[in-house]
Amino acid sequence: IRFDSARFLTSAQMLSQCPEDEGFEVAFAGRSNAGKSSALNTLTRNSKLARTSKTPGRTQLINFFTLSDGQSRLVDLPGYGYAKVNREMKQDWENYIGEYLAERRSLTGLILLMDIRHPMTEFDEMMVRWSIETEMPLRVLLTKSDKLKKGPAKNAFLTVRNQLESQANWLSVQMFSSLKKEGVQELEAWLRSRLADES
Ligand code: GDP
Repeated sequence: IRFDSARFLTSAQMLSQCPEDEGFEVAFAGRSNAGKSSALNTLTRNSKLARTSKTPGRTQLINFFTLSDGQSRLVDLPGYGYAKVNREMKQDWENYIGEYLAERRSLTGLILLMDIRHPMTEFDEMMVRWSIETEMPLRVLLTKSDKLKKGPAKNAFLTVRNQLESQANWLSVQMFSSLKKEGVQELEAWLRSRLADES
């Protein structure tokens, strides 16, 4: 699988608008501003793939990108909990994304992005719990790892790793920096293990 082959496929506002539920899909989730768009752009070597602009309150869509093997997709879930979003919109997010997560049979893995300086927010805990309950393989990316010095970054990594790995063996964590292009190969290896290319 070549991740630079990613092409925009479609946007969906509800489950019925999603592409045919076949093949393999890995979805990217995270709080707004966690660095999700940057990570997708870094992974796909396409600075324009995922939009990094954020308009609070704007209707958010699930974006699907196909890879050239023809059966794998990357899925960009709407960022969670923009500061100005009210309670009602958070509820909408949970219902809408909750439905995607619960119903999507081609979903084989989840990437959860957290700013390394603020890991394990309430939203992150919710996603981890969901992954445990559904036995969905989950990879946490501690993003913007360039923002911390080596020691503090390592400490944050070890704390999150201990917390996750004691709960289920399908939870794992790595550091990631779009700025420094760090952790890209590690992420690719994990994605390959979840998508069509199992070799
Ligand atoms: P999203 O809301 O999760 O899609 O986050 P974005 O990808 O739009 O990033 C949010 C902000 O964090 C932007 O100002 C980015 O430039 C910045 N950012 C993202 N990744 C990194 C990184 O690896 N290092 C640093 N220093 N900043 C980053």
